[in-house]
Amino acid sequence: MDAFQPRAGLHYPRSAGEFQSWFGTGADCLDYLDWLRWPGGFACPRCGHAGGWATADGRYKCAACGGRTSVTAGTLFDRRRTPLTVWFAACWMFAAQKDGISALSLQRSLEIGSYPTAWAMLGRLRSVLVRPGRDRLAGTVEVDETYIGGEEPGLRGGRAKGKKSLVGVAVEVREPRGYGRCRMAVLPDASAASLHPFVTGHVEPGAAVITDAWMGYHGLAGLGYAHKRRSQRAARARGEDPGELLPAVHRVASLAKRWLLGTHQGSAGEAHLQSYLNEFVFRFNRRRSRSRGLVFYRVLELAVTHEPVRYRDLVASPQPKAAPPAPPGMRGHPPTMERPRAARPWRTS
Ligand SMILES: [Zn+2]
Repeated sequence: MDAFQPRAGLHYPRSAGEFQSWFGTGADCLDYLDWLRWPGGFACPRCGHAGGWATADGRYKCAACGGRTSVTAGTLFDRRRTPLTVWFAACWMFAAQKDGISALSLQRSLEIGSYPTAWAMLGRLRSVLVRPGRDRLAGTVEVDETYIGGEEPGLRGGRAKGKKSLVGVAVEVREPRGYGRCRMAVLPDASAASLHPFVTGHVEPGAAVITDAWMGYHGLAGLGYAHKRRSQRAARARGEDPGELLPAVHRVASLAKRWLLGTHQGSAGEAHLQSYLNEFVFRFNRRRSRSRGLVFYRVLELAVTHEPVRYRDLVASPQPKAAPPAPPGMRGHPPTMERPRAARPWRTS
């Protein structure tokens, strides 16, 4: 894990005012992305070599392979038409508002030319929210499926897939109470062939997995989980509400549905549902973040590392990266990389 702890007012803005004073120009935004992407100095995304030169056109030339790279190449901001300042403002609004923002409000607030442009920007933002190689859920995890989309049929209409999408939900349960992180994924159906990969993809082996008695969950114990099944029939026999069998997943599922209907007015179609769910999960898992500025930092961090991480995964034997992110004070480019800089808080320490 990244040991670097970003600090408010130094590595991310504390307030909307600070945001505006930091990111007034495209050059400010570019410098921030540069710092986020290469905290220990430029590392070539083609060959992995650490070190190179800043070129006159604002790109870097690798000292080993001679390849030229722009700060935004292979990131969320690659080949964009919208100015970086507008992109940063969109990222700020996306992060600063606890429930996010609809394409329509984004278009209106930032006076973006068209609704499809605003919609596409938010779609692009969502596409970076899942960090490759992120940790799986651990501890005690409730797992269930629910239907999302269309009109509300009551949870689970007999497991048959209609026009609504079937969504797997996994939530960490804390003792004595409270929830940890969650994961949500659109599933083709509720068979073991769909549910088993959902569990193994999102829950760490060794975790205690709580499900209902549905046969699609049979066999989890053989996959390395401590599987506890709760029977609806038994709950009914005890006079308990079978809907409360798995309270954590039901709570998260209903929050997600409310969020889709609220912020997005139920406009998340089947084709894009997974990307909306990724946004919901990102927000849910950061619901206790004390600072919205820190959420902004995390969004941009994902935005600049997303593609490069995928790229490195493809390289057979990548050169080690320069160094893990250094603590503030040790950061900085080698002398050959010096560029004249305006006073920028993230560069001063
Ligand atoms: Zn290179």
